[in-house]
Amino acid sequence: MSLLRQPLLLLARSAAVKKMVSTMPVSAGIVRSYVPGETTESAVEATAGLADDRLLVTLDYLGEDTLDADQADATVAAYVDLLHQLSARGLTRSAEVSVKLSAVGQFLPDNGHKIALENARTICRAARNAGTTVTLDMEDHTTTDSTLSILRELRKDFPETGAVLQAMLHRTEADCRSLAHEGSRVRLCKGAYLEPEDVAFQDRLEIDRSYVRCLKVLLAGDGYPMIATHDPRMVEIATSLASRYGRVPGSYEFQMLYGIRPEEQRRLAERGERMRVYVPYGTEWYGYLMRRLAERPQNLSFFVRSLISKK
Ligand SMILES: Cc1cc2nc3c(=O)[nH]c(=O)nc-3n(C[C@H](O)[C@H](O)[C@H](O)COP(=O)(O)OP(=O)(O)OC[C@H]3O[C@@H](n4cnc5c(N)ncnc54)[C@H](O)[C@@H]3O)c2cc1C
Repeated sequence: MSLLRQPLLLLARSAAVKKMVSTMPVSAGIVRSYVPGETTESAVEATAGLADDRLLVTLDYLGEDTLDADQADATVAAYVDLLHQLSARGLTRSAEVSVKLSAVGQFLPDNGHKIALENARTICRAARNAGTTVTLDMEDHTTTDSTLSILRELRKDFPETGAVLQAMLHRTEADCRSLAHEGSRVRLCKGAYLEPEDVAFQDRLEIDRSYVRCLKVLLAGDGYPMIATHDPRMVEIATSLASRYGRVPGSYEFQMLYGIRPEEQRRLAERGERMRVYVPYGTEWYGYLMRRLAERPQNLSFFVRSLISKK
């Protein structure tokens, strides 16, 4: 693991650094490369552009770890507005939304779990009315049980709701087994958070091995695997496992983040794979940006230059 990963992921949770860095406008080079804009309109425009290239989209209204109930309500309203606008533009066949439960109240001191469930339910209803779906992002391991329990509740009324599992956690292979059933949409990623040794693999190779074991469970199962990685080896292994397990095109999909390996995104779509791009937007891009920098510390000097020049 890079020596810079840990300090960058710690900074991702620092309110003081967040305050300083967030004065940087979204147009600043490094932010813009990962986030198309701050407004719903910019997100809808980015979606339309990707849809023209036959790419599918999942949209994330940025924000996390809120301790403010009004902020959680504002996030729900932003998703509902986004879903209306996507529907009005005829984009909900190719675009869905990704939601972080900590942005809709999971950490609120009184009844956070219940508030997040009700808020997520409101977004699922709006998505259903717009003709599309919701995927619940997965945050650090302290939230996994709460998130999977909210997922189970939501799936009673909205069985199309997707889950995310992180290969870096020791528990994930077992979670994949429980979720590899018919109708179950599961995004498999490596995991973006700083996690302790007692719950997570620390070594890159071990995380990759876990990713492959989880891929086998999901692709051999009856659910709908969403293979979220930019790693060329994982994409190649997933492709050959899909064919080994008799998966037909359309019975699984690849996913990558906006701005990362865009040529590969188009190449996979042109090859006939379902390829979905995760598009984050909004003003709360700080935590997201820091996690991307932790994965790619080579971009750090670009980031520091953006910060100093603030353009
Ligand atoms: C669609 C999607 C949704 C996700 N949702 C979640 C979630 O809910 N919870 C969660 O914890 N994590 C999530 N992640 C993040 C994920 O866990 C990883 O942190 C991230 O994808 C990097 O892992 P990787 O598989 O791409 O492999 P890596 O080994 O990190 O990278 C493989 C290669 O990809 C390229 N690359 C990777 N990162 C960058 C970058 N920042 N900039 C430029 N190139 C890069 C490089 O070429 C690198 O060699 C999501 C990722 C995707 C693609």
